[in-house]
Amino acid sequence: MMMYGTPMWTYALLIPGMLLTMLASFMVQGTFRKYAQVGSSLGMTGAEVATAILEKMNVTGVTVEHVNGELTDHYDPGAKTVRLSDSVYGSTSLAAAAVAAHECGHVLQDVQEYKFMNMRAGIFPATQIGSQIAPLLMMVGFPLAAGGAAFGGILLKIGIVLFSAVVLFHVVTLPVEFDASSRALKIINELGILQGEEIKPPARC
Ligand SMILES: [Zn+2]
Repeated sequence: MMMYGTPMWTYALLIPGMLLTMLASFMVQGTFRKYAQVGSSLGMTGAEVATAILEKMNVTGVTVEHVNGELTDHYDPGAKTVRLSDSVYGSTSLAAAAVAAHECGHVLQDVQEYKFMNMRAGIFPATQIGSQIAPLLMMVGFPLAAGGAAFGGILLKIGIVLFSAVVLFHVVTLPVEFDASSRALKIINELGILQGEEIKPPARC
């Protein structure tokens, strides 16, 4: 893929970034779908799991809310709110319990002043906007640049740089995600929300 006025390094940055983002998204969705079919033995909903964890950890002043959409679950440190999506909030599946616990892991990062968490929360709104605008800029810029318009090339470049920044954000914040998950696993073990085999999901199938 060659394009007028766009240096090759931008593609060198863009292509691995796109592959990485796609791979991460496939992995999350695949794992979620698989465990969404399995019910946890206690029959607690995602919201109940989150509330139980927060209670057990003596965290006060954090609320658990429902948020529309799929995989939109997050902890908002500004509003001190755990927001759980459609398939987590009211679901008793294993996946729902895992996602709820993961978000509570972020709450603990906040309470225990895990520094990367605040940094991540500070940049997060900008990357959300960036991830929406970047594909738009690339889609509009691409045909314009192909048609020889310098303006299109500029749009395309801004889109690529913006998209790369979003990808970089996800890569840089992976440790924060792993940390939240390991905190979540510890709490789940302590609370006994999931039993035996459920704690360690099978490596395949
Ligand atoms: Zn997370």
